[in-house]
Amino acid sequence: MSTSRTPIPFSRESLEQVLKRRFFFAPAFEIYGGVSGLYDYGPPGCALQANIMDTWRKHFILEEDMLEVDCTMLTPHEVLKTSGHVDKFADWMCRDLKTGEIFRADHLVEEVLEARLKGDKAARGVAINEGEEEDADKKKRKKKVKEIKSIKLDDEVVKEYENVLAQIDGYSGSQLGELMTKYKINNPATDGPLELPIEFNLMFETAIGPSGQLKGFLRPETAQGQFLNFSKLLDCNNEKMPFASASIGKSFRNEISPRAGLLRVREFLMAEIEHYVDPDNKSHSRFDEIKDLKLKFLPKGVQESGSNELTEKSLGEAVSSGMVDNETLGYFLARIYSFLIKIGVDPSRLRFRQHMSNEMAHYAADCWDAELHTSYGWIECVGCADRSAYDLSVHSARTNEKLVVRQPLPEPVLVEKYEVNIAKKKFGPKFRKDAGTVENWLLARTQCELEDLCKELNENNKIVFKIDSIPNSIELDTEFVKIEKVKRTEHIREFTPNVIEPSFGIGRILYSIFEHQFWARPEDKDRTVLSLPPLVAPTKVLLVPLSSNAELQPIVKKISAFLRKEQVPFKVDDSSASIGKRYARNDELGTPFGITIDFDSVKDESVTLRDRDSTKQVRGSLEDIVEAIKDIAYNNVSWTDGTSKLTPFDSQSEA
Ligand code: AMP
Repeated sequence: MSTSRTPIPFSRESLEQVLKRRFFFAPAFEIYGGVSGLYDYGPPGCALQANIMDTWRKHFILEEDMLEVDCTMLTPHEVLKTSGHVDKFADWMCRDLKTGEIFRADHLVEEVLEARLKGDKAARGVAINEGEEEDADKKKRKKKVKEIKSIKLDDEVVKEYENVLAQIDGYSGSQLGELMTKYKINNPATDGPLELPIEFNLMFETAIGPSGQLKGFLRPETAQGQFLNFSKLLDCNNEKMPFASASIGKSFRNEISPRAGLLRVREFLMAEIEHYVDPDNKSHSRFDEIKDLKLKFLPKGVQESGSNELTEKSLGEAVSSGMVDNETLGYFLARIYSFLIKIGVDPSRLRFRQHMSNEMAHYAADCWDAELHTSYGWIECVGCADRSAYDLSVHSARTNEKLVVRQPLPEPVLVEKYEVNIAKKKFGPKFRKDAGTVENWLLARTQCELEDLCKELNENNKIVFKIDSIPNSIELDTEFVKIEKVKRTEHIREFTPNVIEPSFGIGRILYSIFEHQFWARPEDKDRTVLSLPPLVAPTKVLLVPLSSNAELQPIVKKISAFLRKEQVPFKVDDSSASIGKRYARNDELGTPFGITIDFDSVKDESVTLRDRDSTKQVRGSLEDIVEAIKDIAYNNVSWTDGTSKLTPFDSQSEA
């Protein structure tokens, strides 16, 4: 029996079989034929996800004293219009008018160019490595694809393709259209022409209530609910800054072409943090604790030059050199890293990729994605963006509710600022029921907006503006409103916090961990193992009576009761299968420990503990064994240290 993991080539097919056989997850509505991009989780999948979320809560919410909220998934149109999702939350799609097939434009360009590069490698006799292995879907499609033959490309073309691929996340629709025309990218299956890319909004639209009047969407992220509750949360935090809110819940995106199992789905669990920070001070009080941690970075400049070469740097260096914008952002990159490693991500397959300038939202100060390498390539699993004051500002402007922090100044300061003076008595007769709305709108303007309005008022003797909830434009002259720059002594500083947002897609992380922790025992490629860290493994212990002899039953019951009392998740396997088969079943489920009960156990209540990965065994009293299990599973103790007091045990054959 093996005692170590060996580099048997990873087989996605074999992993998929295990995940299906053990019902980690499966297509939803399968007996009705299924719906693309929708999956149900089975018992081990649910337990694994619950353990990952428990770890997430402890690692982030408890450790950083965050404020958790649970907001509704149904979201009114107005909220998502203000946030920019109604207008901008879209991908580019192109249609084959003849066959009706629809492609996501960036994925199509990526797939075709990658295929041509592979054809080129084949023509040059270069081996294609394991990381480039293809999924079953792609293989099926490729059978029909005419382009993927071994065709040698010019060196210049190879460079151009590599350059495009390094920047594939940053192209606009028109740029994708230009690439499709330039590189003659058609429907890969038929070679038929495609329409140029058009925008497709990814939100699922619905109507709230029976009248159908209130349009809404299923939320595409959990963030908006957190922003809208900002003032209440600040109050919960006794007005202290900085602080963070957090939320765990389902989000929905009508993906153009869901694919790659859990990696691109239409309904998925997200865990998001909104960390509110003073825009003038983005230092972090715990930065010192992580500053020496080295991470692998792929900065924007490197991608823009057409390369994918990683830079390894400590976070201290990354922030002081300006590569990572600020300490708080750097602190969260470190926390994301340690969380991912804790739950089973292979550190050698984790990188932090910075968004390129054309990929990042205009308001964002910086953005890094934690990407995990899988057989589908590098996948964005956690986004971490500094969103500046955008979200709070737009909701504040739309609702006229101030979403700001007010802090007493250590000393009063003299400031020059624009102020609005409203002739309130005249507003009532002019605007009637809308008077309050117009007043609030004026009072919620930022200093920049007031500067513009002041200029307009001075030049034209009136200002003209539009408020969404009022049909006609509003015109006000100096009889109604005065806007002036005045000097004031201030005792309070008022500011809109900036937001640093780590955003986790749990399904993607979960699937990547499956790939990172899946292997086969060298003596038999069918004896596969999922080496899930004990902390998150769905079940911690498999209880295996050596035989079905009735004499063993009382002790099995007694040990079960003890494990329940100690809150160690376990399963009993008293089937008639050989002990080796029973262990093999649980190796596939990622169960880290086996407790074997034999006839000696009846006499002295001693049991054997088996380690899933090494198959090593030790013997001891039930109490000592359970203590070792708890130490290893929950207190980050290694197998060697955790079992040092127990007696090594020469195992029965697992055959
Ligand atoms: P985004 O808001 O687009 O940056 O997405 C945040 C996170 O959600 C990503 O890092 C992914 O982990 C996850 N995610 C986004 N879209 C999907 C999807 N269609 N299926 C699964 N996970 C997704």
